[in-house]
Amino acid sequence: MLMDTYARFDVAFKSGVGATLFDENGRDYVDFASGIGVNSLGYAHKKIVKTIKNQAKNLLHTSNLYRIKPQEKLAKRISKLLGFKTYAFFCNSGAEANECALKLARKYGTTHFKQKRYEIISLGNSFHGRTLATLRATGQDKFHPEIFAPYIDGFKFFNTIDEVIKNLNDNTAAVIIELVQGEGGIKALGKNEVKRLADELKRREILLITDEVQCGVYRTGEFVTSQKYGIKPDIITFAKGLGGGVSIGACVSQKSIFTKGDHGSTFGGNFLATSVANTTLKELKRLKKSGELDKISKIFNAKLDELVAKFPKIFAKKQGLGMMLGAVLNDDIDVSKIVSKCLENGVLVLRSGAKTLRLLPPLNISKKEINEGFLRIEKALN
Ligand SMILES: *Cc1c(COP(=O)(O)O)cnc(C)c1O
Repeated sequence: MLMDTYARFDVAFKSGVGATLFDENGRDYVDFASGIGVNSLGYAHKKIVKTIKNQAKNLLHTSNLYRIKPQEKLAKRISKLLGFKTYAFFCNSGAEANECALKLARKYGTTHFKQKRYEIISLGNSFHGRTLATLRATGQDKFHPEIFAPYIDGFKFFNTIDEVIKNLNDNTAAVIIELVQGEGGIKALGKNEVKRLADELKRREILLITDEVQCGVYRTGEFVTSQKYGIKPDIITFAKGLGGGVSIGACVSQKSIFTKGDHGSTFGGNFLATSVANTTLKELKRLKKSGELDKISKIFNAKLDELVAKFPKIFAKKQGLGMMLGAVLNDDIDVSKIVSKCLENGVLVLRSGAKTLRLLPPLNISKKEINEGFLRIEKALN
């Protein structure tokens, strides 16, 4: 038996190719969800299959007691893609990547200032994970039920960047933000206010952490969304799209704050995960450089614009960035019903918050699959 943690649809997928999944009965589904932004290169991608096969023939795991060359290579690759020097820690999930960032912030707060600081500020409507610390960092009270109390001390959240700036004080060690809020309605933060926050934090020597677990790894058009915003965060966290379907998380920091023994992970950054992540980043970079990624994104955005315009009774507006998109629903529309109807019609979509239909297609989705997927959404809406 499984624990009762998910409200699952009664469908079991068996295989996939490109952005198309097949269930046990051979029925096909166009995937506009990619396992919540994980399958950035879709299913059965040849280069990923090849990497996994080759790696499995040699070794999958050794532990971090020994050097792991693909892990070193991945750390270098990430720095290069960012365009500045960083130190990387690899783990297995987004929550763990954020745990690492929060621990870095705690140590920084202890060692960098005359008086110890440990307060970490987040934004309302944010989502940072399901562990006890990342739940507390998540800026939505519904994630802090009494059943799990007491929570870890030292977290605060504010609903706007202005309020965050106003509430910075001599206890603040770090601010953590999602540049595009993935679970909070696919809301992209304003560029000017983010820049203002980044400048203010720099001036006060408070760390800026961008949680790019969902919006990173080319999802919004650049390697990281920070590049789109023109900021250089002190710490960036990654997970979902980084491993092309294999679980991996990463926390990268401009400062090397930890020393031996401060943090660790048994599985984190093993041969399998980091070799696949290297392949994933190489392929995504190629997709970006060739202009294909921007082309696919443009086509996908145009189709969503069309859909929103065609169903004004259902949709209020489109929002998001690149291939991290939301269609905000009118007040009387039930998002769960739309998601189920889409599944019935053979297209996978997601919800975000209570009022937004979320689309996170594989970044290499074909034009044919885009057209077919939107056709099926229209059928579902009708
Ligand atoms: C999904 C997500 C997480 C948590 O990642 P897990 O791999 O589920 O632990 C954290 N932050 C953001 C922004 C996410 O979208």
